[in-house]
Amino acid sequence: MYPNILLSLIENLRKLPGVGAKTAERYAFALLNLSDEEIQTLAKALLDSKTKLHFCQICGNITDKDICLICSDEKRDHSTICVVQDVKDVVAIERIKQYKGVYHVLHGVISTSKGIMPDDLTIDSLIKRVDDRVNEVILATNPTVEGEMTALYLAKRLDNKVGRITRLAHGLPMGAHMDYADELTLIKAMEGRQKI
Ligand code: ZN
Repeated sequence: MYPNILLSLIENLRKLPGVGAKTAERYAFALLNLSDEEIQTLAKALLDSKTKLHFCQICGNITDKDICLICSDEKRDHSTICVVQDVKDVVAIERIKQYKGVYHVLHGVISTSKGIMPDDLTIDSLIKRVDDRVNEVILATNPTVEGEMTALYLAKRLDNKVGRITRLAHGLPMGAHMDYADELTLIKAMEGRQKI
């Protein structure tokens, strides 16, 4: 019943997480109501985010430069590295505005069932990064079985390289994902981190 162009727009919107047929239809009609200028801006933002964004050469965070804003910020504490599994976790921790160190994004966790091995993650670049200027590595992978396994693996690999290796406290519910944790829980988890 819809023209093909509109059907194609709806089908493409359905690729987004949590967007079913009805919502996609609603979004499509909302887009049709935007002005020419608004549509151009949106289209440019979509294209730019695909062509101009990439991962920071140091920490793996998302950036439009070679080195991300956090890594290039001299006011941050570069002797503390918080290891997270996803870019979204950087955003979650930044939101609580308490952490002043830098990050390392693994882009996943070790999972034997999914065939994800240490070599598939940014573990080697983390090990290389941790030199005698680094005092603490915080292992902030999600409190899932795979997240715990990855944290233990990293703790072993980093054992002789850094004085202090910590894990976030168990304020985070088991199986939870950090980017869904509320801010207070995350603050408590960060404050109560313990040596492993
Ligand atoms: Zn960076």
